[in-house]
Amino acid sequence: MNNFINNWLRPDIKAINAYHVPASENMVKLDAMESPFPLPDELIEQYLAYLANAQLNRYPSPNATELQQTLCALMDIPADCSMLLGNGSDELIQLLALACDTNDTILSVEPSFVMYEMIAKFTRLNYQSVDLNDDFEIDLNAMLLAIETHKPKLIFIAYPNNPTGNTFDRTTIEKIITSTHALVVLDEAYYAHANDSFLDDIKKYPNLVLLRTVSKIGFAGLRLGLLIGAQDTVEQLDKLRLPYNINTLTQVSANFLLQEKDEISKNAQIIRNERTKLSAALSAINALKVYPSQANFILFKAPNANELFITLKQKGILIKNLSSAPKLTDCLRVTVGSNEQNQQFIDVVEAFYG
Ligand SMILES: *Cc1c(COP(=O)(O)O)cnc(C)c1O
Repeated sequence: MNNFINNWLRPDIKAINAYHVPASENMVKLDAMESPFPLPDELIEQYLAYLANAQLNRYPSPNATELQQTLCALMDIPADCSMLLGNGSDELIQLLALACDTNDTILSVEPSFVMYEMIAKFTRLNYQSVDLNDDFEIDLNAMLLAIETHKPKLIFIAYPNNPTGNTFDRTTIEKIITSTHALVVLDEAYYAHANDSFLDDIKKYPNLVLLRTVSKIGFAGLRLGLLIGAQDTVEQLDKLRLPYNINTLTQVSANFLLQEKDEISKNAQIIRNERTKLSAALSAINALKVYPSQANFILFKAPNANELFITLKQKGILIKNLSSAPKLTDCLRVTVGSNEQNQQFIDVVEAFYG
């Protein structure tokens, strides 16, 4: 680090490890929960014609009203909810943190999505987490104690959870919501692959909001996430959104592509079927412990996880190595890909333990 930046930078930022995205060119990419399905050929021409109407000399639509309607229809969002759009749901996590006061605390569980803690650091908020139990379920008593002790302002719960893949017990979540003055943020990034959602519970609880994203349903490249909540809540949080945060190319693309509701749910169904097959194939390998998943990825515990990870990489298959993370010793996470990709992956794993 040169002397200027070294003297200038906040010391706590110097100490942060940057979010690392590994090189993946020409690899079978099963590390980041992307969809394996490209745009259907028959849509491309129409899409490009639609895109040609984008007025790039003008600022984007400020509230992206048309896009909000498209998302409401795609995700069956109740009419009495409001939404806030973000440049990915990561931006909305950051926006929620910005709404907090100096010395406020963000509470989550461990292991969970790493951005909750990173964004707490960026915004200089306190961060606390409660360990999940050995089945990756929430320890309600520990959670209630943490709520009482730390009096959090925000509680993030990924539902289903990343990187473990499970949805938590619904009653546990409801108890958490009713036992706190915090805003409870249920992050439903994997809603399309899960059996349950809290979408219909928003009107029951004034301190509940949901996050969703189009990243895990085929459109990671658009960078588009949404916060769904009560009208008053959204109206206040919206003050923190930078003007025009959803760019014109994203708005226009999403307005066209997210109309394909049938195609999107068909693809999610294919992934859920592939998940069942992949989970069965992994479970058939005695050395592995496979965790149940309601998401488009599977977490598994593998002896010599580092070696398996490296072997897969040498064969051109990239997954996520979590084996050095706390509570995840020897754990790897694989995104459910196309049938062919999953087969390539499982062949290497079988040979490794064969
Ligand atoms: C992938 C993921 C996100 C990030 O979504 P973006 O919209 O791509 O920023 C948020 N939360 C969880 C739990 C995720 O796994």
